[in-house]
Amino acid sequence: MTYPTYGRIDGAIVMIGFGSIGKGTLPLIQRHFDYDADQMVVVEPNPDAAPFLAEQGIRHEQIKITRENYRAVLSQLFPDGKGFCVNLSVDTSSLDLMKACREMGVLYIDTVVEPWEGFYFETTNNAERTNYALRQKVRDEKAANPGGTTAVSCCGANPGMVSWFVKEALLTLARDTGADATPPTDRAGWGALMQGLGVKGVHIAERDTQARATPRPRDTFVNTWSVEGFIAEGFQPAELGWGTHEKWMPDTAHSYDTGCQSAIWFERPGAITRVHTWCPTPGPQFGFLVTHNEAVSISDYYTVGPADAPAYRPTCHYAYHPADDAVLSLHEMFGSGQQQKTHEIMDVDEIVTGIDELGVLLYGHEKNALWFGSRLSNEETKTLAPYQNATGLQVTSAVLAGMVWALENPNAGIVETDEMDHARCLEVQRPYLGPVEEHYTDWTPLDNRWEHFPEDLDLSDPWQFRNVLAT
Ligand code: NAD
Repeated sequence: MTYPTYGRIDGAIVMIGFGSIGKGTLPLIQRHFDYDADQMVVVEPNPDAAPFLAEQGIRHEQIKITRENYRAVLSQLFPDGKGFCVNLSVDTSSLDLMKACREMGVLYIDTVVEPWEGFYFETTNNAERTNYALRQKVRDEKAANPGGTTAVSCCGANPGMVSWFVKEALLTLARDTGADATPPTDRAGWGALMQGLGVKGVHIAERDTQARATPRPRDTFVNTWSVEGFIAEGFQPAELGWGTHEKWMPDTAHSYDTGCQSAIWFERPGAITRVHTWCPTPGPQFGFLVTHNEAVSISDYYTVGPADAPAYRPTCHYAYHPADDAVLSLHEMFGSGQQQKTHEIMDVDEIVTGIDELGVLLYGHEKNALWFGSRLSNEETKTLAPYQNATGLQVTSAVLAGMVWALENPNAGIVETDEMDHARCLEVQRPYLGPVEEHYTDWTPLDNRWEHFPEDLDLSDPWQFRNVLAT
């Protein structure tokens, strides 16, 4: 098999974190970039990574990056101020690492705005624990220091790829409704397109059906990607981008009067806040309103008019049905008030069935709702790239696409995936996504309710968040 080479990376390639996503990203970097092999370094505190890296002949720095050592470590690893920092770790500050890399002239990418260790559980003020707060600091840094060396923020599957899907779905919808389907060239154009098409909002609608043959043991959190990462985000407050069509807010909702003001958050963890949503495989389903960066960024990007009084803004949120074992793990964890002692990420070779169906559901328009996304199976994943399951490959191939874009646009400053060339990124990523499909549906959140227990719904508009939120 021959693979396209997307360019040369001069200087060091430093991967921070070698967990499920790091391990899956490595073969894609090896496949698609030209670089000097002795310039590849993995920074990973866990000694378990050592045998694998030694076998591959890759330099392993067994270092835990901290607030105290990160500058010294990075300047040692990038002695010439050249190269690429690929941050795929937990418990390291994305903002601090990105700033240090940009100061050195080193390209940078991550998949989440990660804070330093302790942030998620030691911060007592819930407003400060939101993704809104984490993201706004990165946006403030971008505003304070525009341009300069490229740092791609939040370029995984979601956040990340789904922002490219939103654009592709908008063009699909424009074509299918007879509107002008010429791709806009700037943010104002994309906002006007979404507004003009009458899109009220976007669910990041995901159903993960991957499963192992053996039942989940009690007191074990099983997931298809970082357990630590999922627990951390699941305990953050539920949070969503808040559209201009919404007429009602839950009593526990809080909004903002600083920053982009595109989102609200609730006094309740996202991983036990359910929403009604839709994916092609299950049709109607419950998803969890887990907070994610893209909920805030997409609502912000497509805002038309001033932040504090927009003419148009879409609602946007995650509606995540993780693997069944992860649902049971959440149930056990929240029920007992205790994190499980054992954490397991389902390995590609132990998964016996399932796909990760991850897409965007654009709703409220002339054709009701359109789901656009990747329906990648674990079986197909095995034929595409090693060391990862379907969930992993959707993330790592987005990292690859983001790295290609950064190499081709090395002085773009701090960017989010909404701000990148979605067509180029999807061109690179698509060979790894399995079937990428569009599905229209007549389903609305008013369907499939249990009429024995009447609910306080807004019958005047099916796509009000009041109807989406499960009581
Ligand atoms: P993981 O838990 O499997 O691996 C994380 C790795 O980071 C571990 O190997 C751990 O030892 C290492 N690490 C911990 N503390 C560190 C430190 N101080 N310095 C350096 N390394 C440290 O997680 P994963 O599934 O590989 O996910 C990695 C990151 O990617 C997480 O932040 C996760 O939230 C994010 N992620 C994003 C997406 C997306 O679609 N955007 C999807 C999956 C994961």
